[in-house]
Amino acid sequence: MMPPAKPLTCGARIRVEPRLIPAPGPGTPGGLLRSSVQCRTAAHGHGPHWGVLRDTAWTGGRPGWPTWTSWTGRPAGLLSVHVLPFCPHTPACSLAADHPGVCSPLLDPALSTDPGRTVEIDQALKTLTAHAQGSGGGTDEAAQAAHDAALLTWDELRARPRILDALPEGDLATVHRLIGRSGSVPVLDEAGVRTFLREVTEVTRLWGPGPRDGRRLTHGQAAEFWLGVLTGLPPDWQAAALSGRYEQILPPPGSPQRPSLAEGPGCVPFHGVLQYARRQTAAGHHPPSPVPHHEHGGYREEDRTLGADLATRLAALPYGWRADAVRRIAYGTTPLDALSEAAQAVNALRHHGIRLAWNRT
Ligand SMILES: [Zn+2]
Ligand SMILES: [Zn+2]
Repeated sequence: MMPPAKPLTCGARIRVEPRLIPAPGPGTPGGLLRSSVQCRTAAHGHGPHWGVLRDTAWTGGRPGWPTWTSWTGRPAGLLSVHVLPFCPHTPACSLAADHPGVCSPLLDPALSTDPGRTVEIDQALKTLTAHAQGSGGGTDEAAQAAHDAALLTWDELRARPRILDALPEGDLATVHRLIGRSGSVPVLDEAGVRTFLREVTEVTRLWGPGPRDGRRLTHGQAAEFWLGVLTGLPPDWQAAALSGRYEQILPPPGSPQRPSLAEGPGCVPFHGVLQYARRQTAAGHHPPSPVPHHEHGGYREEDRTLGADLATRLAALPYGWRADAVRRIAYGTTPLDALSEAAQAVNALRHHGIRLAWNRT
């Protein structure tokens, strides 16, 4: 006989507006404030939702538990905060005392399905489109839309475990990065919001119509391949490739040695640079020697230093994040921007309760 299925996790979510949260005071634990709170109890049809508001695991304290009562829409003002001990019934239960439903070890971590979730995601994407075109509402509206677009998309993936289980590390890193960067969307320029929109929309296609097997983000597989090529290069070529000074390290246009993958005048895709570097390495050639600082237009010493620094920063990222960074660089983001944003996103993820291990062993 099949064992009875575990109940799914509720997963209802609300964006936290920090201005509505009382500051921790005497007897109230501090800790990292979540940017978004998700109900952790077994799926329930009614009653208040429960989720962690402050992550005190960072300070060795106990978590504070917010509860907010039956809502329609997203009135973030209804958050009320309670500081409660952990549930005493099951030693490993991560829920608060007197929580409704079963203890956490008896829960299925997959989220319950919510037909309203995809509707809210679509609405959030429309709001962000208007924001990118300069016809949207204010910053608060954009902040809520960015939260819903990234976080509810993440929730929808977790409500469809067959997709998430099959998602390779690089694609998962893209989803995580979008969550980590969602808080910055209201201050991005038009192009930045459009890129965020394009990437979230691409993730939503993971559950769209069509065959499911092997479905992943565009160029995800290619990014893993090119990451392998990049990290297989000697350090001087890695630094040259990540310096972003492509025109300065490649032979001039018209040269037979120049990669033929240009996608427009003066535009050399990153994989063209990597291909060239790989060929040069095989032939025993080094990148051009850096020219002194005052010689503008060449591959300068500070370019080499920046490239070497970015290679170190790339190596410190978890594997999937490295593949994601290479994918972004191939899309035209500068290596400096791709790696700076990755680091910011990894740190911002803590505010969403997602902790990643840096590749620092
Ligand atoms: Zn709930
Ligand atoms: Zn419990």
